[in-house]
Parts: sequence; structure tokens; C-alpha cells
Amino acid sequence: MKDCNCIFCKIANGEIPSNTVYEDEYFRAILDLSPAAKGHTLILPKEHFANLYELDDEYAKRVMPVAKMIAMAAKKALNADGVNLVQNNEAAAGQTVPHFHLHVIPRHEGDNALPLWTPGQSDPEEQKEIAAKIGGEL
Ligand code: AMP
Ligand code: ZN
Repeated sequence: MKDCNCIFCKIANGEIPSNTVYEDEYFRAILDLSPAAKGHTLILPKEHFANLYELDDEYAKRVMPVAKMIAMAAKKALNADGVNLVQNNEAAAGQTVPHFHLHVIPRHEGDNALPLWTPGQSDPEEQKEIAAKIGGEL
């Protein structure tokens, strides 16, 4: 079901033009308007899901092969040295458009396009507790 007020619904369904890299029955992949790096692509489901939590399992199953295909095509086309997949959920995690999307970001050595996290420290006891806590919710 598409959401009439959602810009990514409109783009995914071709109502707003985009630089489309790939399209099938389920997804449209477009170039990001404010790319972190050349070739930064967003994979948008044609149905509206606000985020990963709402994403239908059929789409979830189908999105990774599309990401793999685009990652490899972008790597070849742009001579990239690597590729990041990024997927943000909720404002606290940096999501700005509430329609599920998977970022495919081609990388070149030393481009500093995407700051990654600073590795922290882990406590073995706490790690055990956290693993059990998350596992308990599954
Ligand atoms: P996120 O922060 O994970 O929600 O990512 C949203 C992404 O959508 C950002 O990288 C934006 O640059 C990109 N974006 C927003 N509006 C458009 C648009 N109209 N066309 C293409 N990309 C867009
Ligand atoms: Zn939408």
C-alpha cells in the first residue's frame, strides 16, 4: 500500500522522476540526491514500509540480492575499492525519510566518505547479559 504523502513512495512508483539505476516489480534503486560518495544509491521498495521493523518479509528476502547486484555493478562501473550498505531506522539512528531504504555506497581508498564508529570496549560479563537479553526477545 503506498502512502500518498511519502516522497519515496512517489519516487519508487515513478510519480516523481529520479535517476534510476535499477527497477523491478518490488524495488526501484535511485541515485541519492545528496550523495556521500559518487554512485550512492538508495534501494526503495515500491510499497510503503516506514522502516525495517515494518518491512514485509518477502521484501526483506528480496532486498539483499538487489543490493548485491548494485554493489557489484557500481564497483565495476566506478572502479570502487569497496562498498558500504547502510540502513537507518528512526531518528535516533539517523533516519530522515520514513520509508524503508537501503543505502549502497561505493567507496574508494582514503575517501573518508562515511565516518564509521569508534571501537569501544566490551566487558565479558555484560556482553553475556546483553546477548541473553536480546536473545530473550526473539
Ligand atoms: P536516511 O537518512 O537514511 O533516511 O536517508 C535518506 C536519504 O535520502 C539521504 O541520503 C538523502 O540525501 C536522500 N534523499 C532525500 N530526498 C531525496 C530525493 N528526493 N531523491 C533522492 N534522494 C533523496
Ligand atoms: Zn513511502
